[in-house]
Amino acid sequence: MSQQSDDLQDLYRELILDHARSPRHFGRLQNATHEAAGINPLCGDKLRLYLQVDADDRIEDTSFEGTGCAISVASASLLTDTIIGQPVAAAEAYFESITRRLTGTEAAELYEHLGKLRALDGVKEFPSRVKCATLAWHALHSALHNHDQPATTE
Ligand code: ZN
Repeated sequence: MSQQSDDLQDLYRELILDHARSPRHFGRLQNATHEAAGINPLCGDKLRLYLQVDADDRIEDTSFEGTGCAISVASASLLTDTIIGQPVAAAEAYFESITRRLTGTEAAELYEHLGKLRALDGVKEFPSRVKCATLAWHALHSALHNHDQPATTE
């Protein structure tokens, strides 16, 4: 492995740890227009994602609460940081890309647009942790579709 990719891996690891230790947008969102729970029974991760979507289908605000492993918390925190201020369609596109990236074998080059979300790439080496990383994204998808059932990774 080249020095450069080692450095990148270190940077990504730091980013994950930072978001796990100090999750962004953590807590209940007042005035949420959409919300959904996510449950990953394999690891015990549980979270609830809140969205405030405005009349122009833009995500004005978002937050999450819950308990889980470092990967699930970091992923939810990165999610909120990423989708805030974005159109709903863009958030859905992120959901598609992230789930495809982490569960598939497609070329990394397709996912340059994911930016710091690519910090989650490391979990691909640990298949049992992929569900921790995708949990918040499944909750996002459920919330946007107003599903009554909690999103589950099973
Ligand atoms: Zn987990």
